[in-house]
Amino acid sequence: MARAFGRLSSQFYKLVVLGHRSQFSQPTATYRLTAFKSTLASARQQEEPDPTPDSDDKPKRSVTNRVLDEYGHPYVDLSFNNAEEAYRSKGNFEIIRSLLVFNLCSINYLVDKNKEILRVMRKILGKTLFEKVMKLSFYGHFVAGEDQNSIRPTVEKNMSYGVKSILDYSVEKDLSTEEAKKAEMMSCVSDLPSAELKDPEIKRYRAHEEFGDRRDKVFEARTYFYKDEEACDENMNIFLDCIDAVSGATDGSGFAAIKLTALGRPQLLLQMSEVLVSTRAMFDRIAGHNDQEVVLKSFREKDFRKSLKGMGIPMSRDETKKWFTFLDIGQDGEIDLLDWDNLLEVSMSLHKVFNRVNVQTGEIEPLVTALTEEEENQMKNMLYRVNKIAKYASQQGVRVMIDAEQTYFQPAISRLAMEMMRKFNKDRAVIFNTYQCYLKSTLNNIKIDLDLARRENFYFGAKLVRGAYMEQERERAMTLNYEDPICPDFESTSQNYHRVLEEVMETIPKRERGQVSVMVASHNEKTIKYTVEAMKAHGIRPADKLICFGQLLGMCDQVSFPLGQAGYSVYKYVPYGPVEDVIPYLSRRAMENKGILTKVKKEKQLLWQELRRRLGRGKLIYRPRPN
Ligand SMILES: Cc1cc2nc3c(=O)[nH]c(=O)nc-3n(C[C@H](O)[C@H](O)[C@H](O)COP(=O)(O)OP(=O)(O)OC[C@H]3O[C@@H](n4cnc5c(N)ncnc54)[C@H](O)[C@@H]3O)c2cc1C
Repeated sequence: MARAFGRLSSQFYKLVVLGHRSQFSQPTATYRLTAFKSTLASARQQEEPDPTPDSDDKPKRSVTNRVLDEYGHPYVDLSFNNAEEAYRSKGNFEIIRSLLVFNLCSINYLVDKNKEILRVMRKILGKTLFEKVMKLSFYGHFVAGEDQNSIRPTVEKNMSYGVKSILDYSVEKDLSTEEAKKAEMMSCVSDLPSAELKDPEIKRYRAHEEFGDRRDKVFEARTYFYKDEEACDENMNIFLDCIDAVSGATDGSGFAAIKLTALGRPQLLLQMSEVLVSTRAMFDRIAGHNDQEVVLKSFREKDFRKSLKGMGIPMSRDETKKWFTFLDIGQDGEIDLLDWDNLLEVSMSLHKVFNRVNVQTGEIEPLVTALTEEEENQMKNMLYRVNKIAKYASQQGVRVMIDAEQTYFQPAISRLAMEMMRKFNKDRAVIFNTYQCYLKSTLNNIKIDLDLARRENFYFGAKLVRGAYMEQERERAMTLNYEDPICPDFESTSQNYHRVLEEVMETIPKRERGQVSVMVASHNEKTIKYTVEAMKAHGIRPADKLICFGQLLGMCDQVSFPLGQAGYSVYKYVPYGPVEDVIPYLSRRAMENKGILTKVKKEKQLLWQELRRRLGRGKLIYRPRPN
C-alpha cells in the first residue's frame, strides 16, 4: 500500500510540477460592481434596530457625540480638506516640523544624497547630537520612538484622537547592493541540485541574481536578508517584543506587523510557492478553463481519468480511483478546490506538507527529504517561529498583521498566514493576511480564502493594499519572460481594489457578525471615499468595527484624524526602533516622498492653512486637547 501510494505520489508530482504549463489566467469578469443606489434601500432595511431609538425629530448621535446621517454614519468631509480636524492633535512645533520635513523631501539633491549627508552629519555632530537633530526632524516625524516605553506618548495621544496603532519594529540592516545580492543568492539556492526548468511561470520561483537586492525601487517596505538561523531567532524575539509592546502601549487595541521573510531561509518560501502554484494550476487544468468561479469548480472521477489520459499520464483505472478517493475529503463524488488543496496537508504536520521531485532518482519525496539535513532543520525552525509568534499573540490577546511581499514568496506567505488563521482564528481574528490589489490574481485568491474560512468556520482578517513592489515585479517579469502579474495601469489596480473590497463586504452578511473584517490600508483619498460609501451601501456602520482604515505615521493625517475623531476605526502604521538602526528605512521613506510630491503638496497646503489659522488667532502656543 505504502509503495503504491509512493508510486501514485510520484506520478502525481510529475503531473503537478513537471506537467505544469502557464496557467495564470485571470478570472473573467464575473464581478459586477454593486450598484450603490439599488443596494442602499435593502442595506437600510437590514440595519439592526437602535437599542435606544431617538425620537424621529431628534438627530441620531455617534459615540463621539456626532450627528449621524441616515446610514448611521457620522458626518465626515470626504474631500479631506478640513485642516483643523486633521491637525487638532498636533502642536505648532509638530506642524512646523512636518512642513520642514516635506519641504526637505522636495529637494531632489538632498533626497538623492541623503545617505551621504546623514553620514557626514553623524561624523560632525557625534552620536548624541545627531540623534537629537534626527528626533527634532525626520525621525520625530515618521517614527514614534526607540522602544515600547518611548513610543507610548505618540501612541496614547493618537489613541485619544481616535487613531490606534499597528506597531512595526523598523530596524533594517544597512547592506550595500552587492552585499544584499550575495546574501540573497546564498539563502535562496539549495545545496542540492534542482530540476532543470524551462517553464518561465515556474522559473519565477527561483532566485535570480540581478533581482537579488529586494530593496530596489521599494520605498515603503522594510526588507530582510537572511544571515543565519540565530538572526532569524533574533527577529522572532523582536516580533514577540513587538506583541508585548502592543499589549502594553496600546492596551491590546493595536496590531503587531510582521514579515515572514524575517523568520527563515527565503529559499524555503520559494520552494513552497513553486509547489503551491503548480498544484493550483493542475486543479485548473483538470477542472477546465471556463468562466465559472474557481470556488465553484469541481470535477468527478470520470473527468479526472479523462484529463489524465488527455495529458498523456499513464495511470490505471485502479490508481485513478485510489487517488480520487484519497482526494475526495468531502466524500461527495466531486473534488473541489478545498479537497484538492488538502493534497498538501496529507500529514497535517506543516514541515511535511510540501513534496518535490528528486532529480537524481526521479522519485517524489516530501520536500524535507529533498533538503539537506541543515535545510530541513531550517524549515522546521521557520515553521516553529511562525507558530510561536501566532500562539504568543493569541495568548496575549494581540492581533498580528502578516505583511505581503514579492510575488515569488507570496503563495507561501499567504498559505502560512491561512494556516495560522485556521489554527488561531477560531474565536476571534488574531492573524490578518495581506492582499495586494495590484495583482491580477488577488480577487481570485481572496475568494478562495474567504470560502475556506467560511467552510472551516474560522475568523477571516485581512489588510488590503495596492502593493509596494510594482516596479521591481514588472521588471523581473519582463526580464524572465513570464506574464506581468500587475494590473496594466493605475486605474485597473483601483478597480481591482474596489472589487476585492466589494467581495469582502458581500461576504460579511453571509457569516456571523465579526467573522470577516478588513483593513483598507491606503493613502488614496478616492479609495477611502469609495470605502465609506460602500460601507453605507452595505449597511456596515463605523461602530461595527468590521472595516477599518490604515495609514503610515507621518502621512495622510488629513484622512486618518478626521475619520478617527468621527468614530471610524483607524490605525496608523507606527515604526519604532533606535535612531541609527531606523535610518536605512527613513532614507527610503524620503525617496518615496520625493516620488509622490503631488500628494505631499496637498498635505503642505493644509499644514500651512492650519498654522496660519492658529497664528491669525494669536495661538502662538497650541496645546492639543483630546476629544
Ligand atoms: C498601513 C499600510 C500597510 C501596508 N502594508 C503593505 C504590505 O504588507 N505589503 C505591500 O506590498 N504594501 C503595503 N503597503 C503599501 C501599499 O501597498 C502602497 O504601496 C501604498 O500604500 C501606496 O498605495 P495607496 O493605496 O496608498 O494609493 P496611492 O498612493 O494613490 O497609490 C499609488 C501607488 O499605486 C501603485 N500602483 C499600483 N498598481 C499600479 C499600476 N498598475 N500602475 C501604476 N501604479 C500602480 C504605484 O506603485 C503607486 O505607488 C502598506 C501601506 C499602508 C498604508
